[in-house]
Amino acid sequence: MTFESLGLHASVLTALTEAGYTKPTSVQAQAVPAAIEGRDLLVSSQTGSGKTAAFMLPALHKFASAEAASAAGKTPNQESQSARARGDRPRFKAAQPKMLVLTPTRELALQVTTATDKYGVHLRRIKAVSILGGMPYPKQMQLLARNPEILVATPGRLIDHMESGKIDFSQLEILVLDEADRMLDMGFIEDIEKIVAATPTTRQTMLFSATLDGVVGNMARRITTNPLVIQI
Ligand code: AMP
Repeated sequence: MTFESLGLHASVLTALTEAGYTKPTSVQAQAVPAAIEGRDLLVSSQTGSGKTAAFMLPALHKFASAEAASAAGKTPNQESQSARARGDRPRFKAAQPKMLVLTPTRELALQVTTATDKYGVHLRRIKAVSILGGMPYPKQMQLLARNPEILVATPGRLIDHMESGKIDFSQLEILVLDEADRMLDMGFIEDIEKIVAATPTTRQTMLFSATLDGVVGNMARRITTNPLVIQI
């Protein structure tokens, strides 16, 4: 099994070679082709299995393919020239991410963002930012004003920004719940339900968890459609 045989875009393959990855891990080999097809995934796997790449590689593949297909420029998230010429006060436009990764902790969110930067190094127009509890609000506002395609967030702080109108999920294509069982253990269920409800039902959903039983299993089945279940 090779990364080429999984059907990944050339820019992602180059980044993997540069990262020194020679072959997919088991979770990657099972998850990547199905995710590229657009399937929802329920994956029971542990940290260290290569799960971050299992959801991030197919997402970056999709963005790379869309980037190559579209000659049109990206809409900058800035006030218009004419508004500036009129001397209007700059107005904040909500960020419209295409992908959201929810994680239980700041540390995991930062790891996911670092991995995304590594796997997406050749996708020049794709930016990933972390939205974390404990980070100063002005800094986060600056990051959101760049209208990143990918948000990696802990649920509580994300809700704050959603409720103050800083993030609009109407364009969201991919939702990932990483370590979903830990998020539920930490009491994030209501926040997660609220966030999921704010995203389009047409989204692709990928849920990763040590276990897919009990409360997490119930939630997983509620928020996915005909998911491929992968047990590592
Ligand atoms: P994760 O389970 O996503 O936290 O990944 C665990 C570690 O494995 C990270 O340090 C990754 O950089 C590394 N890794 C993930 N996939 C591969 C791969 N296919 N080949 C080599 N290392 C990998």
